[in-house]
Amino acid sequence: MRVAFLGLGHMGRAMAANLVAAGHEVRAWNRTPGKVPAGAREAASARDAAAGAEVAISMLADDPAVEVVARDLLEALPRGAIHCGMSTVSIQLSRKLAAWHQERGQAYVAAPVYGRPEAAQAKKLFIVTGGSREALARCKPLFDAMGQGIVEMGEVPEHAALLKICGNFLIASLIEMFGEAFTLAEKAGLDPQALSAALTRILFGGAPIPSGYAARIIATEFEPAAFAMPLGLKDVTLALKASEELRAPLPLASLLRDHFLASLAKGRDKWDWGGMAAVIREEAGLPPRRG
Ligand code: NAP
Repeated sequence: MRVAFLGLGHMGRAMAANLVAAGHEVRAWNRTPGKVPAGAREAASARDAAAGAEVAISMLADDPAVEVVARDLLEALPRGAIHCGMSTVSIQLSRKLAAWHQERGQAYVAAPVYGRPEAAQAKKLFIVTGGSREALARCKPLFDAMGQGIVEMGEVPEHAALLKICGNFLIASLIEMFGEAFTLAEKAGLDPQALSAALTRILFGGAPIPSGYAARIIATEFEPAAFAMPLGLKDVTLALKASEELRAPLPLASLLRDHFLASLAKGRDKWDWGGMAAVIREEAGLPPRRG
């Protein structure tokens, strides 16, 4: 299939490489040039990548980046083409993109993903979809080339966006909870490693996501980032934006937002978002990293 790929960051580059490996014809564009994976053609602009494409995949940082690139896609994609948005964006932008593409005779599919860059490389992403059945069926070979499973949320793109936002709110809450519990244990002189091994087994059955975050928080190793701190702040802010619109208070999200802000105020932009737990250590008088 002729695919345009926009955004070759931690996630996008690996995903585009998997599309090439599956035999798709990929024209890729990134704001900073020189990141196109082997086998894909580098496009001079988003419009250049999109011209004549059947599907354009965007995998960009945040709402403003996606909105700017989507305006080019609206102009350059043929009628009948699909914009598949795989970034984590607001429900408000998902709704807007669905309407804009529909006006142009194009389709918008939301397909945010679960999995860090290692999972993207290994084709192990979980892809959450929202869009028309017909558009999703056309995207399926692309999803199969990038992920291990598809979670269908129906025909409304913003529902897929909200599932992703809720999931990342839960992970951010885990970071907060682990940060608090492990700090308490360390202050009492307990071995946080033993405590974490016991609790992740008892409470989470040793599941990889809680176990992975617990291990990183205990090791206090947050660089290089797989999911950077500013993206953590972005996702909690998306949850708060949804909560405002839907009038569903999220008091915990407000606390998380302040802890991500405090982390960024300390210049930790390049840390993984799990490093937010370091501000909890500091509030308890511990150094940000274990010695
Ligand atoms: P990343 O490494 O920071 O890459 C961000 C990409 O967006 C880069 O290609 C960047 O281009 C581009 N970009 C940023 N601002 C732009 C703008 N104004 N105009 C055009 N391009 C712009 O981010 P990532 O980790 O790949 O994440 C991408 C998306 O996937 C995010 O929405 C994130 O929340 C989501 N996600 C990430 C993970 C993860 O573990 N990393 C997991 C699941 C979902 P440059 O190269 O020029 O900066």
